[in-house]
Amino acid sequence: MTAVDAILAHVHSQAADITALIRAFVECESPSDDSAAVNRFVDLVADTVNPFARTRTIPGGKFGRQLMCEMTLPGRKKSGRILALGHSDTVWPMGTLRNMPFRQADGRLWGPGVLDMKSGIAFFIFAVRTLRELEIPVASKVVLQLNSDEEVGSESSRPLTEKNAKESHAVLVLEPGTGLAGKLKTARKGVGDFTVVVRGRASHAGVDFEAGASAVLELARQVDRISGFTQVHRGITVNPGVISGGTRTNVVAAEARAEIDIRVLRLKDAPALEKKFRSLKPFDRRCSLEVTGGLNRPPMERSAGIVRLFRTARQLASELGVEVEESLTGGGSDGNFTAALGVPTLDGLGGVGEGAHAVNESILIGRIADRTALIAKLLASIQPV
Ligand SMILES: [Zn+2]
Repeated sequence: MTAVDAILAHVHSQAADITALIRAFVECESPSDDSAAVNRFVDLVADTVNPFARTRTIPGGKFGRQLMCEMTLPGRKKSGRILALGHSDTVWPMGTLRNMPFRQADGRLWGPGVLDMKSGIAFFIFAVRTLRELEIPVASKVVLQLNSDEEVGSESSRPLTEKNAKESHAVLVLEPGTGLAGKLKTARKGVGDFTVVVRGRASHAGVDFEAGASAVLELARQVDRISGFTQVHRGITVNPGVISGGTRTNVVAAEARAEIDIRVLRLKDAPALEKKFRSLKPFDRRCSLEVTGGLNRPPMERSAGIVRLFRTARQLASELGVEVEESLTGGGSDGNFTAALGVPTLDGLGGVGEGAHAVNESILIGRIADRTALIAKLLASIQPV
């Protein structure tokens, strides 16, 4: 890099303001299950972008409101649309700040939701401000969508995400990058869950043992069989994460249940896996099985359009003196929905750090500027198709 990139230089000059905005976002707690708290955060973001965006909210049912912001950017005659996708909710309950306050130490910003994903939202806002202040034209309309229920499955926001994705030629997801290198995400596994309920026959374990059919024993056998559905080399994993059953040690258990997480790399692997679950038969015919569930986030498969977007990002990052790589993750995001519709989706553009959903949640201060500049450059470079 010979000359300092103009966008990067401008972002650097805003460093203190970016940190202040991340702090304000982190200090406005927004757990998914507290719609009033999420709405307060949504209002804060809307107020922040209000001078340069048209905002509106959409009811989220029992969750907070979804936020849509159409950004006002330089350049006449917009065609097509870029969707920037994020979420306003976090996994952290109200009051987490008391034990895990926002702080700046060891070259990082720390606090609940700082990585997942309040920093990504702040980066996007400063990317837009930079394009405006430098009067860099943007060919497409740019819309930010913040969902209120991403951390709990995106049930209420999914239709809006899909509708908006269909009207867009690219989706930029503001979720954190992978690892401390901040790799971008070009593929994500699909995610689903199943619940298996076993009903057996209760009896007294001492007096009437043979009359009983143990739901616990039946479930143990089923869990062993279900675990065999995993095919690591194909990217298929099946995790019986929660089991429960029985009432007392001296009672042959009448009921037991297991909750199982499934992940697939390819959509075409999902039907066969779902069929295996639905075809489960009891080992002990006196027991019955009830199987419910399925895939709820399709995989984000690494399509040609996604690779093209990634290569653009890699080129733009190199102008910033940064080498970005791509990654595959087993975790889902709302990018899974947009990619599954065939809309080129690049994920992991937000904070670079570690500890999402964990007490060491933090972002690297040294990566704030290049990430913000990369988002700005992408918005200016992605051409309508
Ligand atoms: Zn997230």
